[in-house]
Amino acid sequence: MKKHNFSAGPCILPQSVMQKASEAVINFNNSNLSLIEISHRSNDFVEVMENARSLSLELLGLQNKGYKALFLQGGASMEFLMVAFNLLEKKAAYLNTGTWSNKAMKEAKLLGELVEVGSSKDKNFNYIPKNYSIPADVDYFHCTSNNTIFGTQLNEFPNTTTLKVCDMSSDIFSRQLDFSQFDLIYAGAQKNMGPAGTTLVIIKEEILGKVSRTIPSMLDYQVHLNKDSMFNTPAVFPVYVSMLTLEWLKNLGGISEIEKINNKKAEILYAEIDRNPLFTGFVPNIEDRSKMNATFNLIDTSLSNRFNQLWNEAGINGLNGHRSVGGYRASMYNALPIESVDILIEVMKRLEQKA
Ligand SMILES: *Cc1c(COP(=O)(O)O)cnc(C)c1O
Repeated sequence: MKKHNFSAGPCILPQSVMQKASEAVINFNNSNLSLIEISHRSNDFVEVMENARSLSLELLGLQNKGYKALFLQGGASMEFLMVAFNLLEKKAAYLNTGTWSNKAMKEAKLLGELVEVGSSKDKNFNYIPKNYSIPADVDYFHCTSNNTIFGTQLNEFPNTTTLKVCDMSSDIFSRQLDFSQFDLIYAGAQKNMGPAGTTLVIIKEEILGKVSRTIPSMLDYQVHLNKDSMFNTPAVFPVYVSMLTLEWLKNLGGISEIEKINNKKAEILYAEIDRNPLFTGFVPNIEDRSKMNATFNLIDTSLSNRFNQLWNEAGINGLNGHRSVGGYRASMYNALPIESVDILIEVMKRLEQKA
């Protein structure tokens, strides 16, 4: 039986997507060839790439608004650097909400001055800083919408005329936002969209071409845009699986429909974390809690062996917290069925009865 997969990433994908993807590896579009052994310039694959790009914009409501989508390689980690290469002339503002923001800052610092406008480091990133201000003279503002490791999520984004860049790796396509407030969005596929190996980048094209440095071709968004995301051989399999996941989401009714399910999953799990006397949530402010990654701890850690045994026996996978937080983390990405959350809650209740 398929496990209840709460893995933080690479993450669970829809079973129907896996089925189609595995068939395409053997025989793609009845061509009697595998998806992974044909030219990326073949009509069949160009269609996949174009479909994946247009579906991303369509689901985010960004069609015909000056945005373009790219499927690049190098992960979200490469975007930490690419963003700075393409947009940072002198100074940029970063909101520091954890490990990934920190890594983004580290790369950008190689190319210019950084202003940390807010940070939740004082409390091991268990909250989202509020009431920070962004200097007027920065080239862009960067934030991480969902903090995969700590389990916090931004619900409000600053109202600013500065360019806005957002790392949405772990919550893209999970909830409705006014995506047109952002000038650049990036997301590694492996959290909520597909296998590792490709990164979705959504750019408002007019923001490019403003920096004075020479940008190496592979790091230049304009080079990739000019070649319709085919400057070099794209990650054909990850792009194909991402396209299938986006089609799955569209058939389900799009982001507004999946958001209802995601809200429900998060609501019932946090309710149990707060009700069950054996557990405590890592993020105290309810409004800062991530709907994708719920982090929690056992109050009495001597119960951890028993708890671990119970969830393993129930067929649950991937519940251990990140080493920098400890405890537990239940990642509830789009493809995780609500039934899996029900099972986890049952296990938490069973531990309480036995304790
Ligand atoms: C996982 C993750 C990353 C890193 O992604 P890679 O594709 O491994 O480089 C960056 N940002 C966030 C928010 C993540 O969750």
